[in-house]
Amino acid sequence: MTVHASTVRDLPDALHDEGLFFERLAGRRPAVFLDYDGVLTPIVDRPEDAVISKGMRTTVRALARRCPVCVVSGRDRQVVQELMGVDDLVVAGSHGFDIWSPSEGTIAHDAGSGYEAVISDATDELRAALGSIPGVVIEPKRASVAVHYRLVNPEDHGRIGAVVDTLLTERPEQLKVTPGKKVYELQPKIDWNKGRAVLYLLETLGLDTADVVPLYLGDDITDEDAFRALRGLGVGIIVGHAADPEVAGRATAADFVLDSTTEVEQFLSTLAR
Ligand SMILES: [Mg+2]
Repeated sequence: MTVHASTVRDLPDALHDEGLFFERLAGRRPAVFLDYDGVLTPIVDRPEDAVISKGMRTTVRALARRCPVCVVSGRDRQVVQELMGVDDLVVAGSHGFDIWSPSEGTIAHDAGSGYEAVISDATDELRAALGSIPGVVIEPKRASVAVHYRLVNPEDHGRIGAVVDTLLTERPEQLKVTPGKKVYELQPKIDWNKGRAVLYLLETLGLDTADVVPLYLGDDITDEDAFRALRGLGVGIIVGHAADPEVAGRATAADFVLDSTTEVEQFLSTLAR
């Protein structure tokens, strides 16, 4: 296997280097997998404010008429559907634990079941330990619980990390943490991630065929699993501003970059043509 050591700033731009991108498609039809936060909406201070813009919603719908489109998010599936204001797209919430398609409804998938009690206990403990810190947002989900600290005074960041560490130490066999952009995501400790989710979706939706090129657009650390899963199979596109120090030097398994959600919208419009 080839070791790819690209950083975000080294990648071609999927929009400006369009020729390079369409070369990769080689006439095959794309199946487009989209992360939600940071891809279809800019990152906002409060996750509940990440409502999709009218323009982006129209673009995603137009694309969905041309090719398969699936939104894959770490959020609860119903929350994503509400924020997007659509019910005619395939949406996979909770990192792919909870999949819903307009033609088939809920697609059963039991990888995350049996962990509800652990997640709900962890949520209670996090609330008790961190609830008094101004700015902390604890978001319980179907198969995980997220601790957002973007609005927290930096002085308190260490305290939050320590509480998360303690919680994990107490449940070494049951929980793991995935760090993200000013968020800790506590998930059941099972071998599942967005990469596994995308491969599962390709199979479940009948898209694992030679004439389909899966594209995956994501912006965060958890999306790297999807980029890696699509190596040699599809195309990974990381969304992030190459001048942003949080992004530029990051090692990535993606093939292309898009600078912003604005570029994502333009790129998706290009695909929808
Ligand atoms: Mg994201």
